[in-house]
Amino acid sequence: MNIKHNIQLQPYNSFRTKAVAKLFCEPETEAELSEILQTYADEPKLILGGGYNLFFTKDFDGLVIKPAMRGIKKLSENDDSVEMEVGAAENWDDFVSYCVSHGYSGVENLSLIPGTVGAAPIQNIGAYGTEVKDVIVSVRAVEMASGESLEFSNAACEFEYRNSIFKRMRHYVITSVVFRLSKSFAYKEKYVDVGRELKDLSHPTLRQVRDAIIRIRTRKLPDATLLPNAGSFFKNPVLTKEEKERLLAKLPDAPVYNVGENDFKTSAAYLIEKAGYKGKRKGDVGIYEHHALIIVNHGTENGREIADFMREVQNTVFRQFGVMLEPEVWVF
Ligand SMILES: Cc1cc2nc3c(=O)[nH]c(=O)nc-3n(C[C@H](O)[C@H](O)[C@H](O)COP(=O)(O)OP(=O)(O)OC[C@H]3O[C@@H](n4cnc5c(N)ncnc54)[C@H](O)[C@@H]3O)c2cc1C
Repeated sequence: MNIKHNIQLQPYNSFRTKAVAKLFCEPETEAELSEILQTYADEPKLILGGGYNLFFTKDFDGLVIKPAMRGIKKLSENDDSVEMEVGAAENWDDFVSYCVSHGYSGVENLSLIPGTVGAAPIQNIGAYGTEVKDVIVSVRAVEMASGESLEFSNAACEFEYRNSIFKRMRHYVITSVVFRLSKSFAYKEKYVDVGRELKDLSHPTLRQVRDAIIRIRTRKLPDATLLPNAGSFFKNPVLTKEEKERLLAKLPDAPVYNVGENDFKTSAAYLIEKAGYKGKRKGDVGIYEHHALIIVNHGTENGREIADFMREVQNTVFRQFGVMLEPEVWVF
């Protein structure tokens, strides 16, 4: 059991904010993780993957657990599909690259999403018309309170848009994920930007789809190593019929579409842009000039400045349009 003390977390979050963790560990097996959980049962816990969807506003007076389970293991295979168990610490995009180079389809649209495999089920990562829930068979996890290993079927994960049982309850450390990928591939357009990028190809291959998505993302999103950020900062809000009508009375051109009988999704980026925040900077924090959903850090090491800016954007959008934006990013 290797426990470190007073570890600076700045290198472990893509916003590069400073905070010190009282205790820090990187368990490589479920048994080691379980032992740590039982030994440090009374400490507050924080689970860390690649740190691309969170930032710190203060020191953490507890135990940071960074799962270090590795490996890609083939569990079964037939003519149509393959099942693989992948360790939580594996890099997500390396796994996508592995699948594409072996001709396994299902995750290519999720190319270049930064982070670890273990974090992918937490918010059911998604992009370009695909969500990771569509290829997950099961998730292995250790319950923090008991140190017990558990397996969640896909249904038991209760996946929703950017949500799951793991995000709602925060009781479990994910140690591995089992995926089922298809061994055949026929491109179907799910997203207009990708279709445009592939327009000259009559039958795009898996590799060509991955490359197209990498090109689109590289053009659109800031590189977190050059301009620290955590990707889309807010979720797209889901509105009731009454909220939708109030919004359309103020912004008749707001994009709104049905996501349930009485639920309507609108675009957080559109609202932030209409509130005048696209490209706006306050001190060292601002909204990315090419994408209104991304908060970027121009140089602060103090996460409170980012949290203050987040609240300012939320309050302004709420005052102007009556919609409260909910962060997708975790603020610790
Ligand atoms: C430039 C950029 C682009 C992005 N684009 C997308 C996108 O297109 N789609 C999308 O969905 N997301 C996107 N994101 C967000 C991010 O990549 C994902 O949320 C990713 O899954 C984060 O992985 P991570 O390992 O860095 O998780 P972290 O940020 O370390 O953790 C995220 C949350 O999961 C918890 N957690 C992490 N690992 C575990 C584990 N093993 N067990 C239990 N809890 C855990 C943490 O406590 C935290 O609450 C983007 C981020 C950036 C910076």
